[in-house]
Amino acid sequence: MKKTVTLIPGDGIGPAVSEAAVRIIDAAGAEIEWDRQIAGVTAMEAALPPLPDETLESIRRNGVALKGPLTTPVGTGFRSINVALRKEFDLYACIRPCKAYDGVRTRFPETDIVIVRENTEDLYAGIEFEKGSDEVERLRKFLADELGSPTRDESGISIKPISVFGSDRIVEAAFKYAEENGRKKVTAAHKANIMKFSDGLFLEVARQVAERHPDIEFEDRIIDNLCNQLVSRPEEYDVIVLPNLYGDIVSDLGAGMIGGLGLAPGANIGTEGAIFEATHGSAPKYKGQDKVNPTALMLSGVLMLKHLGEDEAADRMEHGIAEVIRKGDRVTYDLKPSRDDPSAVGTSEFAEAVIEEMND
Ligand code: NAD
Repeated sequence: MKKTVTLIPGDGIGPAVSEAAVRIIDAAGAEIEWDRQIAGVTAMEAALPPLPDETLESIRRNGVALKGPLTTPVGTGFRSINVALRKEFDLYACIRPCKAYDGVRTRFPETDIVIVRENTEDLYAGIEFEKGSDEVERLRKFLADELGSPTRDESGISIKPISVFGSDRIVEAAFKYAEENGRKKVTAAHKANIMKFSDGLFLEVARQVAERHPDIEFEDRIIDNLCNQLVSRPEEYDVIVLPNLYGDIVSDLGAGMIGGLGLAPGANIGTEGAIFEATHGSAPKYKGQDKVNPTALMLSGVLMLKHLGEDEAADRMEHGIAEVIRKGDRVTYDLKPSRDDPSAVGTSEFAEAVIEEMND
């Protein structure tokens, strides 16, 4: 039976990479019906809000969306559509596989890690107090008078909440991913030696969750040590689970290690739905040029198909993408030895090459 998926092509380069991803998902034989919706600048140009109700209802109805990048409109009072989506669907787990395919230019060819980032808590929870505000002065007085912890004049303060509930479900998601994808080890990253009551709690809960999964190895690393080791011995790492802020940073580190933003896919998994999207943004300067690399969104499509139980089509797609990258002749500019290589192909021809590999 066909599954219906919400498709948000997105802004900037979004429509080009989405079109490429849809073409290969369809060609891989996945039984998907696309429910096309708009958001972001594209919606605003159609005199709609940046996140139209119809788009939200579609995701709610289908439970799964493939989304191109959205430009965050500046000066509209709308902070970020991505944040709004994360809140609406409680997308608490951001899963980013970072695998260096043969043929990419990277200093870290052994990299094959999966970053599982908590996405609702930590310093990104949005609990912030502006320098000079009444609230910050009341908080500073409380800290000084009640806790004996004075802060400097003219301070701004951000709060870092980490809960048992949030830690348990993200570490559980990491173990579940490991079990379902034949992975052997989960590493929890933290700074528990310094932040005992937030990162310390995350680590304590991670250890408890690990006991529920005896077949998967578990270890922990202090975040600075993890960064050092990732770039010296990447082959020692497998699934890495992190609180929000470290997860954000290590996700981009991982994207760099596998050859760049054009290659890094992502899945945002929540209690109310799942949204699959590339790590990169809408790169507005390349809009309409049929130039950029569609791999990141295509690989996000691979993750989506696995989520939907379409494993065969997912494997066929991943194989096709890997072959095109390995051969290296019909790839986009970012995968060529030089950025002005005249043999670079465009987004749509890259998709064509993947389809030919899948049919081979
Ligand atoms: P960006 O990722 O859009 O682009 C940065 C640079 O990375 C580009 O100029 C390009 O050189 C390269 N790049 C990105 N994607 C590529 C691809 N597929 N192939 C080849 N090269 C690629 O980051 P930015 O310029 O900081 O952000 C542009 C807009 O995107 C902003 O409005 C930002 O808010 C938004 N954004 C959206 C998302 C999302 O929707 N998930 C994520 C990040 C940024």
